[in-house]
Amino acid sequence: MENKNQNNELSIFAEILPNVKSMTVNVGLPNKKDESSYKFGIYPLKLIFESQPPPNKATLPIKIEVPLVQTIETSEQPIVTNSEESIDIKLKLRTFVRKRPAKRDISTSETYQSPFSSTEISSLKNILCGMCKERCIKENTLNKILDMPSEHWLELIDCWMCHQENYKHAIIGDIVAKENVGLVGNTYFLMHPNNVRENVLRVDVEESQEIDIIMDLKKANIMKLDNLVDTTSPKLNHAHLFQHWAKGMSKKWISMNCSRCLASIGEGLYCKSNEELILLAVRFSKYMTLIELGGSEDVNVKESIIRKYKFTAFFAGDFLEAAKAHATYRFIIKGKRFRRPYILIWLFGWDSKIMMNALEGSKPFRPFSKNVEEDCSIIESNLKICDVMKILYVDCTTIEQDVTSTRLMEQWQKDKTVEHFIYQDDICLELLLLLRKSTSCLPFSKRHMNDFLVGFMDMNG
Ligand SMILES: [Zn+2]
Repeated sequence: MENKNQNNELSIFAEILPNVKSMTVNVGLPNKKDESSYKFGIYPLKLIFESQPPPNKATLPIKIEVPLVQTIETSEQPIVTNSEESIDIKLKLRTFVRKRPAKRDISTSETYQSPFSSTEISSLKNILCGMCKERCIKENTLNKILDMPSEHWLELIDCWMCHQENYKHAIIGDIVAKENVGLVGNTYFLMHPNNVRENVLRVDVEESQEIDIIMDLKKANIMKLDNLVDTTSPKLNHAHLFQHWAKGMSKKWISMNCSRCLASIGEGLYCKSNEELILLAVRFSKYMTLIELGGSEDVNVKESIIRKYKFTAFFAGDFLEAAKAHATYRFIIKGKRFRRPYILIWLFGWDSKIMMNALEGSKPFRPFSKNVEEDCSIIESNLKICDVMKILYVDCTTIEQDVTSTRLMEQWQKDKTVEHFIYQDDICLELLLLLRKSTSCLPFSKRHMNDFLVGFMDMNG
């Protein structure tokens, strides 16, 4: 077994580019360059990297063997470029000559489905708060679990129908939940309030207050100070909320929290009717909840399984769906609360494969909670191949210092072909952390592309 600290001296990052049948390997060199000698072996199905320190040094030699799943064309000369920090090796992957016509290569993105589809959760027992595991659904009340149509289905209808008027009311956000039927979207479950246990959810007070203030501003075009005094009161009742409800906006999604631990859990669709606020539907975020599935068909077996996926697995679903529906690869990620952009994303590749060992021993997420640390672990540093989306991004939280990025953000905001995604603010920040972390794992020379940072997001959850 090799010493882990010593492995740090040869950090390896490899990227497989399936579309051009090539693989680039970057070997980082130590800062102190004493007279170590390096030996790299390239074989059809493995790579070997060795370093031999000078004989008078106490350090041990290092040997790292990287097994490959794709064959390297060893008859072709690799292209080697080196700099102060690293050595870059570009290798060609072998293309096999087949006797029979090849099956079409099916890429990950084509078959990708967001986790927790209706088939996967057919034995759904309950939806739990992701933080304190409080059960949210009334036991045994759901008769059916169905996948929702694509978020873009309405636009598709627009393409087929000549008489659109009839369909104008059917905005997807307003799909009304049906009692005892669970609907499954890419990133959420939609439930009827009657299926939700009483008093397990409460409306996010802070957010509903902010909505009030914004709506008041829009309505009156001024902010009255005495209104503000009222709305900042911590006790917000429904009657008060209604008082500030803007005319013409009869339905509104408001964040809902777990009433036991106050963790964010989803959103409720509220509507006003006869001076009263009515909860029409509840949307549980897939990435803020745990899913309890029945363990077995046998009713006598009480044991159940609790499952969770990382938020990136659901985001990947959203991104790929938008890419397919609109052929757009540029997204603005906005926070729910103030509609403020956090990240500009350019989906650069969605069938990338990478492997690395650069993270060995480093724990950059210690200062954050355990959830964040787990969520933001992208790629294991074990030199195993990982399916990722390659993402070019701009961090909008630090954008003020940068004129080029600010201009880019303004351009994208105006551009109708750029898709906007709105997520809970803490999840936007987590995505930003994850991308930042993935960038820090890359060799220095690969961290930037034009005005963007280069990062990765895993698709496996
Ligand atoms: Zn909770």
